[in-house]
Amino acid sequence: MSATVGGALERGIFVDGRAHALEGEALTITNPGTGELVGRAASASPEAVDAAVRSAQAALPEWSRRGYADRGTVLHACAQAFEDSVDDLVPLLVAEQGKTIREARIELRKAADTLEHYAGMGREVRGVSVPGLAPGVDGRVLRRPLGVVAAIVPWNFPTTLLCNKLGPALLCGNTVVAKPADTTPFTTLRLAEILTEAGLPAGVVNVVPGTGPGTGEALVTHPLVRKVAFTGSTPTGERVGALAAAGSKRVTLELGGSDPMIICDDADLDRAASAASMGRFYNCGQACLAIKRVFVFESVADGVIDAIAAKATKLRVGLGTDPESQIGPMHSERQRQIVQRQLDAGVAAGGEVIVGGGPPDDPALANGWFFSPTVVVEPPRESPLAQEEVFGPVMPVWRVKDFDEAMERANDSPFGLGSSVWTRDLDRAERAAAELDCGYTWINSPTKVYDELPFGGLKASGYGKEHGTEALDFYSDTKSVVVKRAP
Ligand code: NAD
Repeated sequence: MSATVGGALERGIFVDGRAHALEGEALTITNPGTGELVGRAASASPEAVDAAVRSAQAALPEWSRRGYADRGTVLHACAQAFEDSVDDLVPLLVAEQGKTIREARIELRKAADTLEHYAGMGREVRGVSVPGLAPGVDGRVLRRPLGVVAAIVPWNFPTTLLCNKLGPALLCGNTVVAKPADTTPFTTLRLAEILTEAGLPAGVVNVVPGTGPGTGEALVTHPLVRKVAFTGSTPTGERVGALAAAGSKRVTLELGGSDPMIICDDADLDRAASAASMGRFYNCGQACLAIKRVFVFESVADGVIDAIAAKATKLRVGLGTDPESQIGPMHSERQRQIVQRQLDAGVAAGGEVIVGGGPPDDPALANGWFFSPTVVVEPPRESPLAQEEVFGPVMPVWRVKDFDEAMERANDSPFGLGSSVWTRDLDRAERAAAELDCGYTWINSPTKVYDELPFGGLKASGYGKEHGTEALDFYSDTKSVVVKRAP
């Protein structure tokens, strides 16, 4: 399959190491920036899901018997082939997702890098031995793969979110059936081909595009699936978790977030304003760990709000294909409607929009789901802008009198994914690290995720970890072995 978008694409499922022709139900994929047809992809039926899971199950014995170092070598070849294909994949990702060329390149490189990270870990995995349980009796703790893993991901970062699962799952000896979002199937299908051409055995990674309730539920409930690795919204994750529990399957849920950022009076305010702008508006605000609530000390608030507003005004909104664009369209009409509703409710209740407020006026952008970078000050704390996840380029900012109030407001959320604090005061920084209820705290740092550190949320943001060596624990099981020497 050519990755370059020429005419409309037609793609079937990727199962057993090969791309199948499109047949049966199909998804229609349109470009979020132009409304033009990108192509049609399979909407996998329960029978197609069954074929994919059986292919993964058949590939399991050989793949799981290989050593970690051997699997790491294959992953290394995959990462290399992926890295070499990035330029080829960029137009495809831009066309189906909407993001800018620069953002697409960063996403794809990061995804390849994550595979490389786990490839390198192949020579480092260690086990546990417990000598002397009793005279002549020793214990060992083995790490074993779980089996077939269902990897379900959303549309905002189709490839990084998948590779966060592929890296640890494959290294640990599992096989995978991936389900991309029903609006972003093409890059994932092409990626599966690239990995297979690089040496991944047939059946180790399969891709079944399709709808959530149809394809997704058929996959989650398939009896041969032993683990569901899900990234997506909280309501869907809770449903997926319940379905998985009914089959006693392992599950990790990487769900929504409403990450707070605290800017103290002693912070480097210029850097903090830049981090706020990047953290909120990157990927058109459609990131789980985007900065979604900003709390700034009232003594410095006016200057910080002006600086953030100036940055938001300067950001160039445009088609993802335009190399000058800094912010592409939102991904869908539905997504834009949700964010507009949240903003309107916050404004009706007293919030003040100081930049943006809705779609841009530019007639050249009228066919896409564009939304201007928006800053809104002091919407009430009960409003959707404070209590719901805002998955788009709208930044609510609140003034707080001191650090205690900032911490209390930051923790006043159903979510607990990430958080950030900007201060030069060591005590405040340490308190934020210890007391913010979430899985990640950045101190005086842009909100970047590192492969070396575990990532995952609390509360409505889900449970389980991706990244870090910790991710291996969520794609493998331990088994205890006792050895008694002859008397
Ligand atoms: P979504 O929950 O609607 O969909 C996510 C995936 O689940 C898609 O592939 C979808 O087809 C599938 N799905 C939907 N219903 C299903 C069902 N009943 N059974 C099985 N699968 C089903 O998510 P979305 O709204 O498209 O994505 C955005 C959300 O993802 C946001 O809430 C965002 O915060 C979250 N997200 C979280 C992380 C993280 O790491 N925590 C990362 C990125 C995005």
